[in-house]
Formats: sequence, structure tokens, C-alpha cells
Amino acid sequence: MLVRTRRGSGHDHRDGSWQQHRLWRVILCLRQLQMHKSFWEPTPKRCMMKIAKDFHWEMGHRLPEHFGKCKNIHGHSYKMIVEIEGDVQQSGMIMDYYDLKKIVNPVVDELDHAFMVFDGDTEIIEFLKKAGSKKVIVDFQSTVENICRYFLNKLKSVEFPSNVHKLKVKIYETHDDYAEEEIEF
Ligand SMILES: [Zn+2]
Repeated sequence: MLVRTRRGSGHDHRDGSWQQHRLWRVILCLRQLQMHKSFWEPTPKRCMMKIAKDFHWEMGHRLPEHFGKCKNIHGHSYKMIVEIEGDVQQSGMIMDYYDLKKIVNPVVDELDHAFMVFDGDTEIIEFLKKAGSKKVIVDFQSTVENICRYFLNKLKSVEFPSNVHKLKVKIYETHDDYAEEEIEF
């Protein structure tokens, strides 16, 4: 009987060269699998858990060099999600939400009802000084990406428990615009 492979080439089933051909194909497949090392490695037993908490603040700003509306003095209701990834401890928690609030709230309080102003925007700085208004002077344009990095830099200097492996900050400037960044410890 003639058996055809899927490729359509014909070999006699009883033919020794056909069996040798199959053997070589099996060897080739095994060698290819060996190249993918992860195939042979057992699945890691470590499972990561995540927790997250929302924070909110109101803040004024402007982008003085922006071509459009963003160069005007205006403000946003910011929403930030701080996400922590790590091992669950004996307490059943990665980290107590209470402790997370203690770390994040002081940074949020600095910004709440303040005006974030670029240190090169001298006219606005003078105005805020004269008005005695709350301000946060920064060395960057107050885009949502930069504010996200600002938070992450503040938070990464904090001593998190050793079971925490990753920290992610996601900030919504409006309900449909956000930036996010994460660091691994
Ligand atoms: Zn804005």
C-alpha cells in the first residue's frame, strides 16, 4: 500500500528509508524543543498577587509651550491608581492598605488644591507668590507622563516591605487620558 504524507510525497510504508526519514524528523523535533529551554523547566511555584488603591486630588497647571488649550491656566481632577505586586504574607496581605495610604497620602496632600508650575514659567510663579497661593514648583512640564514619574520617584525612595516586588503608578488626567509607569524592586 502506498501511504502519502500531508506534503504529498510518496513512500512505501514498509520501506526502511521511510522509517529512517521519520526517525530523523523525531530527532529534529526533540532538538528544536531543547532549544526552548523553558519547555523543560518546571513551572515556577511562586505566584504573585496584586493590590491597588485609588487616590484623588485637584490641581491647577498649564503647559506654557503647548500649541493649544493646555497653555492656558486650568486644572484637573486627578485620579491615581497605585498598584503593588508581591508575595502574600502570613497576615494574609501583601501590604496593609492603611500603610499604603500613610506612604502615598502625604505626596497627594502636597499637590491637592495646589498649582504645579514649571520652574521656567516665571510669570506664573510671581503671580502665585503675590496671591499667596499654594504652589509646587517642578523642573519639568506638568504633563501627565511627568507627573506619573514624579510620583514614582517619590514613592520608590520609600522603604517598602521586602515582599513587595513591583510598584505601578497610573494617573488619569481626565476620565479617558492616563499615563502609567512601573518599577521592580
Ligand atoms: Zn491640563
